[in-house]
Amino acid sequence: MDIIVLKPDVSDEQIEKIVKKLELKGLKPHISKGTERTIIGVIGDTSKITEDEENAIRAIPGVEEVVRILKPYKLASRDFKKTDTVIKVDDLEIGGKKVHVAAGPCAVENRVTLINIAEKIKSAGATFLRGGAFKPRTSPYSFQGLGVEGLKYLAEAKEKTGLPVISEIMDPRDIDVMIDYVDILQIGTRNMQNFKLLMEVGSVDKPVLLKRGMSATIKELLMAAEYILSRGNEKVILCERGIRTFETATRNTLDLSAVPLLKSLSHLPVAVDPSHGVGKRELVSPMAVAAVAAGADMLLIEVHTNPEEALSDGEQSLTPEQFKEMMKKVAAVAKAVGREV
Ligand code: PEP
Ligand code: MN
Repeated sequence: MDIIVLKPDVSDEQIEKIVKKLELKGLKPHISKGTERTIIGVIGDTSKITEDEENAIRAIPGVEEVVRILKPYKLASRDFKKTDTVIKVDDLEIGGKKVHVAAGPCAVENRVTLINIAEKIKSAGATFLRGGAFKPRTSPYSFQGLGVEGLKYLAEAKEKTGLPVISEIMDPRDIDVMIDYVDILQIGTRNMQNFKLLMEVGSVDKPVLLKRGMSATIKELLMAAEYILSRGNEKVILCERGIRTFETATRNTLDLSAVPLLKSLSHLPVAVDPSHGVGKRELVSPMAVAAVAAGADMLLIEVHTNPEEALSDGEQSLTPEQFKEMMKKVAAVAKAVGREV
């Protein structure tokens, strides 16, 4: 037994009873109170618990389920939850039949450009607006993002278009301000193992899009997701965005095998970001289509009205016209694999 799922109406006395039983066995219970339910993670050598003892715990009123999970990531695993997790944002559902497309500039640059891009991607069929207000740049001399001002423009663009907003959080200290402006918090590739940040976003009631670290294995990605889930936030979207390999012809190597693999190992929705995966405008559309064929639940696409002048990632940004063309192909492939956009 590794996880004890409690009923919503479980009492403190019942929790105490379970905790005592576990501690007597030398095990460490980790209680996480989520918004929907409470879970006790059991840390230590759980093979010490006999089948009879396990059944006794199962019989305690207030216990919904007792699950033994062999994988190191537990709450993220399919063994823990067989059905696909569907994450609601406003009236949209991520992880269901519909493939969502989040599009927008790499960085929020100014109010007018952002609103213009938002209107164009919306009319082409995007369902989310992406855009960084806090930018993780390789050079400290590059544009670092507009910060809170950028968040305000994103919120205004949402008001005008109805598109929910996804934006990157880099620092746990920004969480309070971001919560008010953003619908999905993005954790970037460079922060996938920023454990303090993971724990912080795990403590709030806001969906998190967790990007795979550029040198992270699938197991490491799932363990990072586990940090968020174990804090009680069940709304995690995993995102493949390309990994570092020996190849230099593309910015990264987009590992699309990660999509069906993650879907089999985990119940969480899977997104793909072909823009950062390839780093080249002309390869984005073919890889977006391939991602949908591979089973992606969501795409992240960088779009800019004037890519040549973009303050970051212009070379991988599509023009609104190119995005519109891409959406037609994505829609056709989605239909072919029993999905819709
Ligand atoms: C981004 O989405 O603009 C971004 C910085 O992504 P990544 O963390 O995947 O590089
Ligand atoms: Mn970018």
